[in-house]
Formats: sequence, structure tokens, C-alpha cells
Amino acid sequence: MSEGSVVAEDGLTVQPVESSLKPEIIPAQVVEASQASQAEKNGDDSREDGEKGKTFSDYVDKRIGDGVIEASNFGRELPPERAGEYGLEIKKASLQLIDKLGIEDSLFNDDRYNEAFLTLCDSWVANENSQEPSDQERAFLLQFGRLLSGNKSSFNREAFQRGEEDSGEYFIEASSSKYKRDKAYVDRAREYDHPQKTADFEARVGDFGGDSVFADVRQSLGIASPDQEKPFSVIVVDSYSLSPKDGRIKWADLAGEPGMMQDVGAFVYNDPVTHESTMVIPQEVYDEIIGDDEGYKKTSIGTIKHEYAHTQRSMLLGETDVLGNIFDERMVMQASKGGAPHVDTSIILKTMSKLLPNDGLEVEAQLRKCLTSESARADFLKFVSDRFGLRSTLLLLSIQPDLYREKYGISAVPGVDLGSDHRSSDLLKLVIAERLKIDPDAMERYKKRLSKLDAQEAEMEIFLHRYGKTYLPDELESVIEGRAKAA
Ligand SMILES: [Zn+2]
Repeated sequence: MSEGSVVAEDGLTVQPVESSLKPEIIPAQVVEASQASQAEKNGDDSREDGEKGKTFSDYVDKRIGDGVIEASNFGRELPPERAGEYGLEIKKASLQLIDKLGIEDSLFNDDRYNEAFLTLCDSWVANENSQEPSDQERAFLLQFGRLLSGNKSSFNREAFQRGEEDSGEYFIEASSSKYKRDKAYVDRAREYDHPQKTADFEARVGDFGGDSVFADVRQSLGIASPDQEKPFSVIVVDSYSLSPKDGRIKWADLAGEPGMMQDVGAFVYNDPVTHESTMVIPQEVYDEIIGDDEGYKKTSIGTIKHEYAHTQRSMLLGETDVLGNIFDERMVMQASKGGAPHVDTSIILKTMSKLLPNDGLEVEAQLRKCLTSESARADFLKFVSDRFGLRSTLLLLSIQPDLYREKYGISAVPGVDLGSDHRSSDLLKLVIAERLKIDPDAMERYKKRLSKLDAQEAEMEIFLHRYGKTYLPDELESVIEGRAKAA
């Protein structure tokens, strides 16, 4: 499964964000936030709107009531009797951040946002309480908050209205920079529509019969009839006309301008303004699906099933499709049983599984529930927080799959720049360390599971480790090498 054979997809949904936060605006934000903090310390509690932040505050109480926050807060080794005090710190931070970003209360009607905001407040408190609070961390956290609150943030809206540079990366409407850029790809694809093949493909998609191409992916998603399906349109792109040399779509061709983006296979564009979904399929993929070559056919069908799942389900947070990507891709992979091999995404979540009891299937099992249940998506985030800590959840939400970064030159969110190379293994190292703080047996469990790998899996593990795709504690490398050699 080499990168070369990867059918890349939906690069549209992720954009570079590294430059989105102007460093010069951070100090002012930080100063204001710490002034607010000072005012509260001085007993200035006269808030105009006593209800502001109440939904989130209730959520914090519920999480403390569950006995979960102190369990989640591994990093600070919080004694249980301090849970109430910690809850107050979280709430205080939440009010500052809600004020600063002008977040509408409606954001908190969805527990996925409550949990994500909790991870943000937790890290904010940790940084502010540390001996030397870091400006870089503040910048990262504010950026996370801006991405999370999106159009429900008056800070984002006002910055956009003032025409501030990069504000269109956070606030999405028809004239936003990110929106225009993403939409340009689809509009351009439409110019190269192959009407006959598109019509044929639409007919295939519309077929709900037992031997339909989508029968099994629909079953995984719990979609039994057309009325349970979110509508989407299809464009089969005459990619030979676009790129006569090799018949692949080039992103640059689609954008109508030179870009960093490379070749793509199929992708889905979920329009954040019109809420329409469009699946773009190169003619080449179409030909493989209707063709006779079983090998290509299988790969291409896997790809479009994967893309189909993207039209129906999402684990992404906010309008900008930056937060939650690795969970989203892994969930979709489970539905389609394939498609784009997001190797790093799989490894992160499989490694997390290996650290847990229950044969290591728990993370995957929790994620599978998200395919058919919206409330399971909030539960999944809580599940991750409870077992790996709030900090891990924040970082896992922020990191981008390698496929987006490597193929399209898309960078991780600043602050999740965990190593010189944004490697997933750096994040894994942190997640494992967080787990070990509350569960010292986790390493033994992990070791045992690794020793059970078959020779091929062991070789793969070593290979990925060498290329910085995965993280193995030193002592485990020899265990795995032993397995690989044993073959
Ligand atoms: Zn995908």
C-alpha cells in the first residue's frame, strides 16, 4: 500500500492554517484575557449576561458529577478533593474565552462542542497556571477556539467584516477566502463534466437494489432507503481533457492556477454555505469501476464507497473542516472498509486501542457506533478524554492526517507542530504517556499485543516506525524486531 497507489481524496476540505493566526494580534488577545482574569480575581463579577456560558457550565458540572473530569485530568495528577476547585477554574476560563471569542450559546447545544471546548479550557487553565505561560500555546488555543466556534463567534465575524487578513479562513460565507478557494475546484470540475458518464454513475448511485455498488456501505451506515440518504450530486470529470498526459486530475488544473496540490482520485466537497454535497470522480476511476479489470475495479469501488460515506457522515467540528479529521477518516474507513489508506490515522487509533483492555477493540468499536448514531459522536470524544486525557483529545482533534499534509502540502495546526516533521509518532508518544499516568499496566498490555503480531504485521510496524509514522518505546522495538525475524 504505497503512497503512489493512494487514491487521494477530499483535499478540498482541509486548508493550510499555519498562517491563519497573525502573531501580532496574539499579545493583545492575551493581555485582554489576563485582564479579564485579573478583574475576576478582584471580585468584579458584575456580568451583564448572567446566563452566558450557562450551557457549558452545566456540562462541566455534569462531567464533574460523573467523576470524569478529575479522571480525565491525568496530566495534573489532580487529587479527587480538588475536582470542584478545578471545575471552577475551567468555568472561569470558559467565560473568558466565550467573551473573548464572542461565542454564541447555541454552540453548546451539541455535546461534541462542549467536550471539545472543555479540552480547550483545560489546556488554557494548565498554561495560565504554569510557571511560565507560553504565548505560543495561547496562540494555538485561541486558534483552536476560532476554528471550533467558526460562524458562531462574533470575534470571527467582526474580523471578517473588518476585512482582516485570513479572517475568511475562520468565518465562512459566500465571500470568504477559504470558501471561494474550495468552491473554485468544484466549479472547475463541473466545466469538465462528462454528461453521459455522470448520468450513468448517478443511476448506479441511485440503485438501492441488493447488488448495488453501495449496498454494503449503506448497510454499515444504517441507510436502508432513499429517504434516509442525504442527497448529493455526482460529477464524472473528463480528466483526460484536463490532464492529457496521464489522465489524472491535477489540483492545479482544477484550481486554474499552479498550486502545491498533486494528483487526486475521487473527492467529496461538502459545501458549508449551501450544505450541498458533491462527489467528483475522475473518468479514470469511473472506467475502472465499469471495466473488467477486477484489481482496479476493487480499488476504485473501495474509493467511491469511502467518498460516499463522506457525503453521509462526519466527525468534523466547525465550518472549516480542520478539527476532527483523523476521527472522521477512520470512521469513514470503517463504513467503506477501505478507500484512501490513511495509514497514520489508522495507526494512531489502533495504537490507542492496544493500550486499553478488552482486546484493544474498544476505540474502533466506539467509533463504529458513530456511523449510525449522532449522539455516539459526542460519546466518542468523552470516551477518548476519559481514557487518554483532555489534552490528548485536544491534540487528536487538531492534527491532520499525513495524506493531507504530504500530498497537498497542508500543515498541522500550529501547536500541534509536535516535531520538526509534524509526525504522528510525536503525538502518539504524548497520548501513550498520558495513558500511562493513570494506567501503568497499559505498557504491558501494549507489549503483549505487539508480541502477538504476525510476522507481516511486525515487519509493517518496524517499517512504519523507521519512517516516523508510528511510535514505539525503545524497549518495544526489540520485541517487534524479534517477531519480524521469527518468520
Ligand atoms: Zn476520506
